Amino acid sequence: MDTALTYSQLIILNCNIICVVELKLYNSASRTIETFVPLVDNKISLYVCGITPYDASHLGHAFVFTVFDTLIRFLTLQQYEVTYVQNITDVDDDMLKKASEVGQEWQGLGDQVVGELLNDFAYLNIKSPTHMPKASSSIDKIIEIVGVLIEKGYAYEVDGNVYFDTKKYGIYGSFARLSYKQMIALSSMRGNNIKDTAKKDPLDFVLWQKSLKNEPAWKSLWGMGRPGWHIECSAMSMTYLGNKIDIHGGGADLMFPHHESEIAQTESFTGEQPFVQYWMHCGMVMYESEKMSKSLGNLVFVKDLKKNYSANAIRWLLLSNHYRKPWEYIEEDLMQAQKTIDSIERSLNTKYTIQNTQLPVSFLAALAHDFNTPKALEILVESKSEEQVAMFDMLGFTIKS
Ligand SMILES: [Zn+2]
Repeated sequence: MDTALTYSQLIILNCNIICVVELKLYNSASRTIETFVPLVDNKISLYVCGITPYDASHLGHAFVFTVFDTLIRFLTLQQYEVTYVQNITDVDDDMLKKASEVGQEWQGLGDQVVGELLNDFAYLNIKSPTHMPKASSSIDKIIEIVGVLIEKGYAYEVDGNVYFDTKKYGIYGSFARLSYKQMIALSSMRGNNIKDTAKKDPLDFVLWQKSLKNEPAWKSLWGMGRPGWHIECSAMSMTYLGNKIDIHGGGADLMFPHHESEIAQTESFTGEQPFVQYWMHCGMVMYESEKMSKSLGNLVFVKDLKKNYSANAIRWLLLSNHYRKPWEYIEEDLMQAQKTIDSIERSLNTKYTIQNTQLPVSFLAALAHDFNTPKALEILVESKSEEQVAMFDMLGFTIKS
């Protein structure tokens, strides 16, 4: 990989630290690495699909949120002002099912699990987003969007349920580059009832649905109901970041149907394209050769790792994987990460800080070239102690005084 940058590409700031470099990111929409140019100078709007608060956080969550936390630290160092929105999907089929199973009221369950998740993220030194809206607080915006989509002919109502008309939209599937057959298969695995005969096309997805007994329900033009999954993120991103955003992130498994549907809804509603300038998708975390997922029951929880490994060791393991690549969790790798961290911490010279130390050009270049954190860690390990502390700090590791 070519990460070489000439000094002419760098701007030397008056803080005497070389820290502004040309940023290149892989855009999942174009499938190429592109030079990053924000919509507004020095400002970045970032939306990352957040948590569904019905179970503890696992390593897959920790990977996505640590990647974006570290990216924001780097962008901030690059003198960008980042507005970061991460939603909470508290109205969702899985969420309501879990609340019913455990006999708990859905809001109470959501608040309790969000509290636990935030504790785990704080342990990993992940900073809080600028805004962390709940889907249940965005109902008015959702109803507004659904109403406009019906008016514009992109949605239709049948007996209290409202569906997005994928045929009318015309290019559904172009973002994820999937065939109709592939989309049907994936949709049915990810929450879309393809056998619902009320729909014009099996691919059409729910924007608004009638609430069942004991489910939360809000008043709408189409009766008492609740939102579909995808529309929640369209509403929250537009509410907090406007019609167009710079970077949208999430796990790679969200690309279809979730992000495909977000694009379809948002662009049909606003009439503006593209809704997102750069899409960043994190690779899946595997465990025992399969994707770590609730349905497979092969989750590795942060709360369990915390018992035996330090936050810095877990963060080191996560950042030693390139954000775009799938990787497998093997406990020996975490043990090794703990040894590496212990060794660095022993030699870290804390009298040097990011304020008075120059970050190596090679370190900045690695991060600027599609956010290559594994390369940045390699450079950190090979650097002198007085340089390590600034790199350590920049990557979000906690420095013990
Ligand atoms: Zn989302």
